[in-house]
Amino acid sequence: MKLAQRIQNVSGSLTLEITSRAKKLRQEGFDVINFAAGEPDFDTPEFIKEAAIKAIHDGFTKYTPSSGILELKSAISRKFKNENRLNYNPSQIVVSCGAKHSIYNLIQVLTESGDEVIIPSPYWVSYPEMVKLAEATAVILRAYPNENLKINISCLKQAITSKTKLLILNSPSNPTGVVYNPDELKEIAKVCIQNKILVISDEIYEHLIYDGQSYTSIASLGKEIYDLTITVNGVSKAFSMTGWRIGYLGASEEIACAVSKFQDHSTSNPTSISQKAAFAALEAKNSWLKKLCLEFEERRNLMLQCLDNISALSYIKPQGAFYVFSDISKLGLDSHTFVKRLLEEENVALIPGEGFGMENYVRLSFATSKDKIKLGMERIERWVKQLLKKS
Ligand code: PMP
Ligand code: GLU
Repeated sequence: MKLAQRIQNVSGSLTLEITSRAKKLRQEGFDVINFAAGEPDFDTPEFIKEAAIKAIHDGFTKYTPSSGILELKSAISRKFKNENRLNYNPSQIVVSCGAKHSIYNLIQVLTESGDEVIIPSPYWVSYPEMVKLAEATAVILRAYPNENLKINISCLKQAITSKTKLLILNSPSNPTGVVYNPDELKEIAKVCIQNKILVISDEIYEHLIYDGQSYTSIASLGKEIYDLTITVNGVSKAFSMTGWRIGYLGASEEIACAVSKFQDHSTSNPTSISQKAAFAALEAKNSWLKKLCLEFEERRNLMLQCLDNISALSYIKPQGAFYVFSDISKLGLDSHTFVKRLLEEENVALIPGEGFGMENYVRLSFATSKDKIKLGMERIERWVKQLLKKS
């Protein structure tokens, strides 16, 4: 049997693979500290679960419109307006099975063979593979540690050709946690407007932002960039709802209709029950997000404090998301070997930078308790010191 070429070129998701390996080892009784996790460790809040249970009891268990129920799209429309200063009518919104699905659908409907998609590195693992699945070409933008691995505007300009269709922007970033400020976003927007390049703005970590900063969506910076941008978000990270699979996008009506049509013939609607739960999450006027953000900020500070004791591991200070991207080049191991040995020898799971397009780095997630952060970082410190002694 020969599998289609389309899947033969695609790699599995390193983030999902290592996270499940770490979870499995824990279930088998190994004392694993999981710094690989790309999801909050908290349970979904009770009021969200209750909305889902009510949906089941009410018999809300049938097909819904493919692009989502109007009630939820209206709540998303209000969220975009109130939190992001963005006007997307419900007809410009499509609800999908996670932000991953929203981005996949967009790349499918916007690009094809011959198109180029600019992906700033380091990037979230799935972007280049999604581009391959659309038979388009991923153009990886180089980044520099002395610029916090953010987009370099001259590199961006140089990467643009007549075939460039799309730029994928992710702020706060997975894996670095860097957040683009309004001036940086204006510079990026200017280049995209001049060259008529569409932007997918992946804002999934929007609510996890530290040091008293406020968040800016690139599409809110003016009509021209609004017209070129598709804003993607979801409830996975902000409401600890990774398993519920609800993401959404705001775009022009033309793009929203195309995605909706694509969804008609692939997944149909995202789960009816999860849509009711997502509605409850978006409508809630409670302190959940504030508490979540504060807890993550404390965990970030703790992890950075611990990293400061390990001088061989430098890092980029994350201003958002729940990851630290650390430079391991002083240790003389490639990121894959580093991660494999650390898991085998100290039971600490990380993700190798290789998966994010940066060989000399590893990603540490602080989506775990402070006690585990302390314990895991002690193990890393001891292990790194031994490694340096031997070399
Ligand atoms: N974008 C980024 C940068 C992510 O890290 C994730 C996490 N999986 C997603 C999108 C997708 O999130 P989800 O599909 O769970 O909504
Ligand atoms: N986005 C998370 C991560 O980067 C979850 C896993 C995935 O979907 O990639 O770890």
